[in-house]
Amino acid sequence: MSILQKLQSLRDELREHNHNYYVLDNPTISDYDFDIKLKELQSLEVLHPEFYDANSPTLRVGGEITKNFNTVVHEHRMYSLDNSYSKEDLLDWEKRIEKIIDEKVEFVCELKYDGASISLTYENGNLLRAVTRGDGTQGDEVTANIKTIKSVPLQLKGDFPQKFDIRGEIVLPFDGFNKMNEVRLEAGEEPYRNPRNTASGSLKLQDSAEVAKRPLECLLYNIKGNNLGFSSQYQSLVNARRMGFKVPDASKLAKSVDEVLEFVNYWDVHRHELPYETDGVVVKVNDLQQQEELGYTAKAPRWAMAYKFKAEQVSTRLNEITYQVGRTGAITPVANLEPVELAGTTVKRASLHNADQIEKLDIREGDEVYVEKGGEIIPKIIKVNFSKRPLNSQPTTYINHCPECDTELVRQEGDAKHYCPNYNGCNPQIIGRIQHFISRKAMDIEGLGGETVALLVNKGLISNYSNLYTLTKEDVLPLERMAEKSAENLVNGVEDSKQIPFERVLFAIGIRYVGETVAKKLAKHYKSIDAITQASIEDLVAVDEIGGRIADSVVEFFSSEENRSIIDQLKAFGLQLELSAEALAGQTDKLKGLSIVVSGVFETVSRTELKKLIEDNGGKVSSSISSKTNYLVAGDKMGPSKRAKAETLGVAIISEKDFLSKLN
Ligand code: AMP
Ligand code: ZN
Repeated sequence: MSILQKLQSLRDELREHNHNYYVLDNPTISDYDFDIKLKELQSLEVLHPEFYDANSPTLRVGGEITKNFNTVVHEHRMYSLDNSYSKEDLLDWEKRIEKIIDEKVEFVCELKYDGASISLTYENGNLLRAVTRGDGTQGDEVTANIKTIKSVPLQLKGDFPQKFDIRGEIVLPFDGFNKMNEVRLEAGEEPYRNPRNTASGSLKLQDSAEVAKRPLECLLYNIKGNNLGFSSQYQSLVNARRMGFKVPDASKLAKSVDEVLEFVNYWDVHRHELPYETDGVVVKVNDLQQQEELGYTAKAPRWAMAYKFKAEQVSTRLNEITYQVGRTGAITPVANLEPVELAGTTVKRASLHNADQIEKLDIREGDEVYVEKGGEIIPKIIKVNFSKRPLNSQPTTYINHCPECDTELVRQEGDAKHYCPNYNGCNPQIIGRIQHFISRKAMDIEGLGGETVALLVNKGLISNYSNLYTLTKEDVLPLERMAEKSAENLVNGVEDSKQIPFERVLFAIGIRYVGETVAKKLAKHYKSIDAITQASIEDLVAVDEIGGRIADSVVEFFSSEENRSIIDQLKAFGLQLELSAEALAGQTDKLKGLSIVVSGVFETVSRTELKKLIEDNGGKVSSSISSKTNYLVAGDKMGPSKRAKAETLGVAIISEKDFLSKLN
């Protein structure tokens, strides 16, 4: 046997043992024998660096140091999940699905593992890279760390697609977590708080050898790519197992919401027997073609739904109610609690939302209250334990003046919250608005952070976002912790932001209710800030998906003299306040007023591109066929009932080719 053959056979053998031990929980040799073989491989590799293999089992022990993690854009965006809490929620979801899909829909139920999400890319059966979810669009590359997790196959078995991404959750099983804490306690160190945070913290450790010591596991649940060789979620799980991935057995096909609930109820009880944390069930439409038909909202797939187990509750004392002012001037009452342990974290504060909520709960300082932690990071107060109410307790009176600037609060009809109307003179509003302006999805100003903004405002250097563009290096140098280089970066970052496209500027200026999506819609429709400034409420509501609330808010924003003058300054500084020539180039009115449904699989353009084409040409993409639909663009494998529905309603059915030639 040649050296290379020897190396390969050792690597194959160790891989198999890893799989047996870490994925199947079924070791077939002793740990001792495994170590002997691993050492043998290690020494051979040292002697023969020419046969280096980036995915050798020896690399499981780590050693690579990463100082800065590279940012990698996900080829397929990593979405979040919508949440449901009751049978009604699930039935509503099913109804929404039925509006779009005419055929029978089956579901797959899976456990919702509570850890850190990860995306693994495989090419020709080898692990190419591992990237954290990040903001969903891009994450950090943590390949060196992930390679140390023994249940992640570095090389796949059997048949596999040429290239694909597989998503999963990195979890830290309770056992391993407890052992880690024993070691820490012995060393006199603070124990880790909970498995989830420890798992996600592990991914960003610089020293992969440290990660290797942590008993992390990777549980997989979703494959993305082309020519995958399966047509359902359930089958994809089966295939993933065959390729060597760890996919928990607890997944089930369900034919109805009732069957989904059976699964939920079973696991609500039995989840405590699982070796790792779960916080619910994920229900997915099984058929991938149907999934594609359903598509995504801005945040989550329409074909999946998380069902959250009932959250844990504890009782504690409400010490004080304080009030916070947000960037829009919205007042949020905050419950300051006697610190208490809940679901692995210490809870000190909870949101009380608004005056109505306080009234509804009849909550008072000094009360014993029940606190619950659901999916949100901020815990909720569920109810007051009236039997423990102190005798001298006084009803809560809601504040009527701003805690920051003492202006009288207003509450408009239909609003749940009170607002401080001192838009341009209330510090948290000024700071919050500028912080929003510079944030990543808005102007993305590099070299300037939220704390610096607060400093700049508090020192009187700026009082609105347009002032940022007059800042000089000399202005900012005297600030705390500001060095020559960082001052330069700040000023350059501000300068660079002048290139940020119009729709993001529109989002950045912080008009109430104008989020990213609405900003895009408005930018596309009006093409310049001047046109939006002149738009009336009637004009605005005529724009697709712009409702009365948004329209009011836009008109109110531009009716302010002060806001208009700030916008004029932005214009003078050279910010992009109209669509660029490029953005305008692809846009026409050819499909104006037309409502179009796309269905099936397309040849020359992807479904997403097709939808974008429709929107760019002034048309409206709608997800289900109705009498208002003008065209159904039919791709391959379109559901027969969809076609029938279009025919009955007399909707014109056109092919991809006809549609494209119609446009050109
Ligand atoms: P959330 O972060 O609450 O929006 O929930 C979405 C996250 O749930 C995903 O990003 C995954 O990391 C995680 N997750 C855990 N288990 C599953 C599963 N079986 N299927 C899909 N997502 C899951
Ligand atoms: Zn105020």
